[in-house]
Amino acid sequence: MRLAIIGAGPAGIMAGINALENVDELVFFDKDVPLKTLLPTGGGRCNLAYGEFDNNELVKFYPRGSKFLLSVFSRFSTADTLEFFEKIGVKSYIQDDLRIFPCSNSSKDVRKKLLSLLNDTKVKFYCEEVLCFKKVSDRFRLKTNKSEYFFDKVIFAGGIRDNFDVLKESGINIIAPKPALCALCIEDVSLYSLSGVSFKDVMACIDGSKQEFVGDFIITQNSISGPLVYKISSANAFSPFPYQVRFNFVGYGFDEFDMRLRELLDNNSKKLLINIISEFIPKSFAQFLFKKNAVSFELKASQVNRAVRTMLAKEMTEYKMKIVAQKPNGEIVSAGGVNLDLINPKSMEYKDISGLYFCGEVLNIDGYTGGFNLQNCWSTGYLAGTAVAKGKKN
Ligand SMILES: Cc1cc2nc3c(=O)[nH]c(=O)nc-3n(C[C@H](O)[C@H](O)[C@H](O)COP(=O)(O)OP(=O)(O)OC[C@H]3O[C@@H](n4cnc5c(N)ncnc54)[C@H](O)[C@@H]3O)c2cc1C
Repeated sequence: MRLAIIGAGPAGIMAGINALENVDELVFFDKDVPLKTLLPTGGGRCNLAYGEFDNNELVKFYPRGSKFLLSVFSRFSTADTLEFFEKIGVKSYIQDDLRIFPCSNSSKDVRKKLLSLLNDTKVKFYCEEVLCFKKVSDRFRLKTNKSEYFFDKVIFAGGIRDNFDVLKESGINIIAPKPALCALCIEDVSLYSLSGVSFKDVMACIDGSKQEFVGDFIITQNSISGPLVYKISSANAFSPFPYQVRFNFVGYGFDEFDMRLRELLDNNSKKLLINIISEFIPKSFAQFLFKKNAVSFELKASQVNRAVRTMLAKEMTEYKMKIVAQKPNGEIVSAGGVNLDLINPKSMEYKDISGLYFCGEVLNIDGYTGGFNLQNCWSTGYLAGTAVAKGKKN
């Protein structure tokens, strides 16, 4: 049996490794270098997975695909992933924040180990871009930028970002992709004057949604970014702009914080208000708020009136930002992709076309940052690869 895998990223490589034993020939088509996309992961350290071993909890980290993944993870879980990597010589460790990394802290090392498993005469890598694939009677015809080929089975693992037209042309049912895990642009551009200022453990909620997010973020020259912003961008990937987010920098609700502030002002009457406020938020942001609301930097605690106090308590517990756009081309993953209703979660086979499989980011699955997106690649890649192998045996 001749198998083509389109895309030699993490999902395609995992599929190939698991299909290899039962194919006569395996050809990878990749327009770029195999597993190049693994190299920047985890800042070069490769955040392989996340240390949550209860699948019901794990799937909560995926804004899209959680129900489908419950079935997938029941067949190839986080524990299976770690065992697989251990077997191929990639020992891993779990950080305090539960993110899992290889002990080498090197995505280069992981890449080398994975590719070494495909060092087999049956395997070929073609550096070609696939433009279209179609099932013609019982074989697949693949058109690339260089030639045309025929295969018995195809696994598509090329991601969704560059493949909207390829998949449409090939008759696949897809949800149009949107950027997720990306920086966001805000209406109040004056905040960008604080470029480089970062915030820790901030709570955020999107107006009109009950979801609450916690995390760190940073202001850049033309956006807000960081883990908290990535979560917001993912949760709202399909919402129209603009939308409003409320940030709470202090961890208390307005009433509680207002009371706390009153106590602090009473007990520190000679202190400058700006210094009291700077205990909760970065000083430059405190100065920004003071300027915006025409409050003097010289104001002492004893001079603060109720209007100023409640205004500050409001700004620090319900700071509103209007989100006007995603920062272009900076997304870590794409939301959208192949419609999961048409994928068999046991095998990753496309229900309308036998012998065609999908895995990885091309599926309408995406997770937050923390190893969830690679976990999707390992699990769906494993299932696609083993399904192809089983098909051969039957
Ligand atoms: C900077 C960065 C850091 C990240 N860090 C992490 C992390 O630490 N942990 C985590 O879980 N996730 C991380 N991610 C997300 C993760 O890298 C992706 O979810 C994952 O790479 C998706 O794998 P994939 O195999 O599905 O697709 P891809 O990695 O996109 O691989 C697809 C491959 O197919 C090729 N290709 C595409 N279309 C065609 C075509 N038509 N013809 C031929 N070849 C084609 C591409 O060249 C590519 O090699 C990160 C992403 C980025 C951008």
